[in-house]
Amino acid sequence: MVNFLNLKAINAQYREELVQACAEVIDSGWYIQGNYLNRFEQDYANWNGSGFCIGVANGLDALVLVLKAWKELGKLKAGDEVIVQANTYIASVLAITENDLVPVLVEPDPNTFNLNAATIEAALTERTKAILPVHLYGQVSPMPEIMVLADKYQLLVLEDCAQSHGAIVAGKKAGSWGHAAGFSFYPGKNLGALGDAGAITTDDAELASCLKALRNYGSHKKYENLYQGQNSRLDEIQAAMLSVKLKYLDAETAVRQKIAARYLEAIQNPLVQLPWLPSAEQHVWHLFVVKTTVRSALQQHLADRGIQTLIHYPIPPHKQQAYAEWNSMSLPVTEAIHEQVLSLPLDPTMTDSDIQAVIEAVNSFNR
Ligand SMILES: *Cc1c(COP(=O)(O)O)cnc(C)c1O
Repeated sequence: MVNFLNLKAINAQYREELVQACAEVIDSGWYIQGNYLNRFEQDYANWNGSGFCIGVANGLDALVLVLKAWKELGKLKAGDEVIVQANTYIASVLAITENDLVPVLVEPDPNTFNLNAATIEAALTERTKAILPVHLYGQVSPMPEIMVLADKYQLLVLEDCAQSHGAIVAGKKAGSWGHAAGFSFYPGKNLGALGDAGAITTDDAELASCLKALRNYGSHKKYENLYQGQNSRLDEIQAAMLSVKLKYLDAETAVRQKIAARYLEAIQNPLVQLPWLPSAEQHVWHLFVVKTTVRSALQQHLADRGIQTLIHYPIPPHKQQAYAEWNSMSLPVTEAIHEQVLSLPLDPTMTDSDIQAVIEAVNSFNR
């Protein structure tokens, strides 16, 4: 049996340190917005090469709060258009509509699953005020080109880094390119808490200060409310768990990259299209996603051999009931992706024989 993702085994590696950190928080008597959050925020900002890190309750809130802060600071207003790739996980789109902004769903590059400068430029209108590139599956978007475009048209850039902790392009990490970035530390993400957690990174001191208030009822000072904020704080216990796991993130990413390199080298099947990789450091392999026109047969073939796979994602945002008004839109690249993608098991605790079993099972598939 090869699990898709073995969270129990991942966290078991650090069990002693996690238990110790948890005990320290319990004994401290202080559970919200204290030393453990401050320490994690500082460590994460340093690790990411960002000026500031603001911990929040989850990855969706990270995106929602940045857009809300830009509205509070007069940089965005209701009705402004935000460009986002049509094949993203729905959270990126929810963050836009939650703020009464208008998502402009753009077809991705079918090789990278991401936006690029040309597809963004073709979708610009006078109302475009921001770009929300999602570094999907762990592969960073072409940020140098996207930032040149953003400068040229004076657009804000919010990176969705929920799947791309530590991916590097042109020497800089995902989440240090845009004007702000949202991270998720959902347990299954590359840096996972033991519950919900998220963060925002930015170099903009004014934005960071606004976000610190917005996550805490719009308040910088107890019982004084500058904004109509919300409650989206990162708990001390989760911050302490994240500080432990952050120390091992680079090593885990290196293992993910090694497993992916083995898949890329050894999986050979004309029915299965492997992910495209421009350079090793650009992809942190949150997911290893292949494409095939015979997906259900391949998924069944792998299941018969004890190999768990998942689909990311079966239904694109514009075909969801939640966005009924878009259901008749035609986005053929996105729709083909959703019909063809299959995610193979990839986690840093896989054994050599797990990896070999996946390779052999995919290679032995035929119709
Ligand atoms: C997981 C994810 C989110 C949301 O993160 P949560 O912590 O689950 O709220 C946002 N965007 C993408 C691309 C994600 O994969």
